[in-house]
Amino acid sequence: MSDKSSGIKAIRSTALMRDLMAAHFRELDEASRTRDRKIAWCTSVGPAELLRSFGFLVYFPENHGAVLGSSRAAADLIPLANARGYSPDICSYLTSDIGSYLAGRTPLQKAFGIAGVPRPDLLVYNTNQCRDVQDWLAFYQREWGVPLAGIDTQRGLGDLTRDHLDGLVAQHKALIPVLEAVSGRRFDLDRLKEVVASSYRCTQLWKRVLQLAAHRPSPLTFFDGTIHMGPAVVLRGTPEAERYYQALIAELEERVAAGTAAVEGERHRFYWEGMPVWGKLRDHAEHFAGLGACVVASTYCNSWIFEPLGAADPFEGMARSYTELFIVRSEEYKERYLQRMIDLYAIDGIVYHDAKTCPNNSNCRYGLQRRLAERTGVPYVTINGDLNDLRLYSEEQTRTQFEALVEQLPGSR
Ligand code: SF4
Repeated sequence: MSDKSSGIKAIRSTALMRDLMAAHFRELDEASRTRDRKIAWCTSVGPAELLRSFGFLVYFPENHGAVLGSSRAAADLIPLANARGYSPDICSYLTSDIGSYLAGRTPLQKAFGIAGVPRPDLLVYNTNQCRDVQDWLAFYQREWGVPLAGIDTQRGLGDLTRDHLDGLVAQHKALIPVLEAVSGRRFDLDRLKEVVASSYRCTQLWKRVLQLAAHRPSPLTFFDGTIHMGPAVVLRGTPEAERYYQALIAELEERVAAGTAAVEGERHRFYWEGMPVWGKLRDHAEHFAGLGACVVASTYCNSWIFEPLGAADPFEGMARSYTELFIVRSEEYKERYLQRMIDLYAIDGIVYHDAKTCPNNSNCRYGLQRRLAERTGVPYVTINGDLNDLRLYSEEQTRTQFEALVEQLPGSR
């Protein structure tokens, strides 16, 4: 199927992914209503494998934040959280999600015919990405009186030292008594190894999906990636996620073999650094396609590749995976990482998204973008916006910036 008017080729497997996500939310909804299975909420790069090994169904509030952003429900909901004292300057996933809870409505109800967001038995965070996730789950702890546990990760890291790693492994192990008490099950190391192994296979498949974009023309865009990363985020550690990526890879490999482009007539290849603007994904995809540009890669989609999950010790695998993330690392590490991405994907230009309410995922505030451009000669632009709060986003300024990036490329004038 090809959308001739937009110049973007639609991905067939999207229908399969929607079914998978529907099944995920319906399973959670049923457990929430019948209380026949325990539900844990987990931050997106939290210890999901450990939770699954205890039989918890796992729900990811940031995924809900993205749903609220992409459905453009966030604008009406954020002020409700602001009225409860949550600043408009903090994470707009957090304020959208708390607003959704306060309003008693979510797009999940209409999309999947479910009662709403599932009620947790346990809340688990990792501060590897930001402090906001801890405060976010603490809100629900106060509302519902359920246990809150987590892992505190130091940020701005260069190399990970043995001492640091040992501390993180110990924090993962310290969760076990809490999980045993809430789940009513004993810890099972063999089960954990199975879940971690499945999560590792999922991560390898997801990496393969993203690396197919190194082909010219690319068979997928960053905007496709933001949608198709769903199973890697919410279903990693399950066979369903693995099966889904096998199907997606087969489809994308067909495209590569046939020389089929995601963006018709791909001329320029861009990199997206920072959060997506969820409410503008389609607009951005179409605007770039109209400029003959394919955004082929991003830090965001690559952040769900967890190579260390392949380690022999599952605790060390989890501790490394959730600490050796781009967002946790030093500026020097980030520069080296972006340099590798420029080379791997043959990048012509970079879009930095300075997301007002997520400084943690905005890597253009301490000169990185200038240093990288000076070293590589790859041009860049910065857009000011936000992941969910479209009041902080200017359509006109963004379009001008996208066009300015194309104009900086050799031979564009
Ligand atoms: S990393 Fe950014 S978007 Fe994600 S939860 Fe933290 S503040 Fe929100």
